[in-house]
Amino acid sequence: MRLSRYFLPVLKETPAEAQIVSHRLMLRAGMIRQASAGIYSWLPLGYKVLRNIERIVHEEQIRAGHIPMLMPTVQSGELWQKSGRHNSYGPEMLRFHDRHGREMLYGPTNEEMITDIVASYVTSYKALPLTLYHIQWKFRDEVRPRFGVMRGREFLMKDGYNFDLSKEAALHAYNRHLVSYLRTYERMGLQAIPMRADSGPIGGDYTHEFLVLAETGESEVFYDSEITDLTLGNRDIDYDSVDQCQAVMDEFTSRYARTDETHDTAEFDKIPAERQRSARGIEVGQIFYFGTEYSEKLGAYVQSDSGERVPLHMGSHGIGVSRLLGAIIEASHDDKGIIWPEGVTPFHCGIVNLKQGDAEADAACESLYDALSGHGLEPLYDDRDERAGGKFATMDLIGLPWRITVGPRGLKNGVVELTSRRTGESEELSPEAAVARVAEIYAAHKPVNSGV
Ligand code: ATP
Ligand code: MG
Repeated sequence: MRLSRYFLPVLKETPAEAQIVSHRLMLRAGMIRQASAGIYSWLPLGYKVLRNIERIVHEEQIRAGHIPMLMPTVQSGELWQKSGRHNSYGPEMLRFHDRHGREMLYGPTNEEMITDIVASYVTSYKALPLTLYHIQWKFRDEVRPRFGVMRGREFLMKDGYNFDLSKEAALHAYNRHLVSYLRTYERMGLQAIPMRADSGPIGGDYTHEFLVLAETGESEVFYDSEITDLTLGNRDIDYDSVDQCQAVMDEFTSRYARTDETHDTAEFDKIPAERQRSARGIEVGQIFYFGTEYSEKLGAYVQSDSGERVPLHMGSHGIGVSRLLGAIIEASHDDKGIIWPEGVTPFHCGIVNLKQGDAEADAACESLYDALSGHGLEPLYDDRDERAGGKFATMDLIGLPWRITVGPRGLKNGVVELTSRRTGESEELSPEAAVARVAEIYAAHKPVNSGV
């Protein structure tokens, strides 16, 4: 993309309405624009990051054996009456009537609808195990929408639902989700710690929330500092293996890590004092096992192998796709702007031309552009006729992890400058070597061909 042809409405001033850094930077970098309280338009740069996050979520869900689909945003109130949540959900649910006077709602979540779908088609244990998921917009009429996309009213969520014959099988699905979520967040350059949570209005006994530590987080959390040393890394986990998923689960969940709702001071005090931590965190996901409650209410039963009619064991699992943009920025920025992890960056590499209009500099930038594109990378070329200082400030603000700077002086010596946004370190290289270096860095972040 050439910046002169792009739509990147960056702001010079710091917007007064934004209280936290991620919200300020998303507005300043021209990523989002508020349409009304808690509802945002995704401008081109923000939309690109949102799509990258969504793609990683899809890839990791599919890797774990889960099946993508898409349910509508608007639901009929009828199913919710069956489950009893039409009354219990409260004012967060946006309800309205269609022209025939029928109760409709904008889905805050999809347990009812997916259970109804499965109840309609699945009749035998042979169709199990089954995990279906979608990535769809949700609406919750939050009392205090704030912090930009962190607590929106309209937000994008991945929500998935597992259907299993037994509690044991459903707990394997729970563990499998825990592992796949860890991998999902790590690919986005994030450490999200699974913490024992309170089951809330969805109900059930087994639930973990995934929290990214950040001062601006809305949740208060307590944990054993050892848990922050754990990573999944490149471990090759077989998602069908009960033992392998259980082992990862045990490794991560045996350490004390809880939200304030489940915090237990007596338990906490058993940890050596120097490892006790209390902090704030951003909830970026949650997993539940909740048994047969929805299946019984909505008629999701199958014939078991012994011929009995049994209700399905279910769980649900959510990732805050749009909230993740805010969480990543909270975890990765400096006073100049955003620092995107390679996995989610909107463009792979910036190209800054220090002397637009200089035939040699222009030609060198064009050939870098072609060479990077040839490696399947997407550069953002600042080809505007602007001062170098302004170009650097824009690149730093929007946070591309790598920048190649091209100027007549360097070109005389056959070099361009490759700069890391994270460390600020620069290196002089031939244009070919700079391209090869950038291509090598991104080789580890190639999309998985997952079939989405
Ligand atoms: P919270 O406690 O933050 O209100 P929740 O526990 O009600 O969230 P879930 O039903 O667990 O939310 O939804 C799954 C994920 O969706 C959450 O982990 C969070 O990342 C995201 N999410 C929930 N509410 C919002 C919101 N208002 N804006 C943006 N993302 C949200
Ligand atoms: Mg939650």
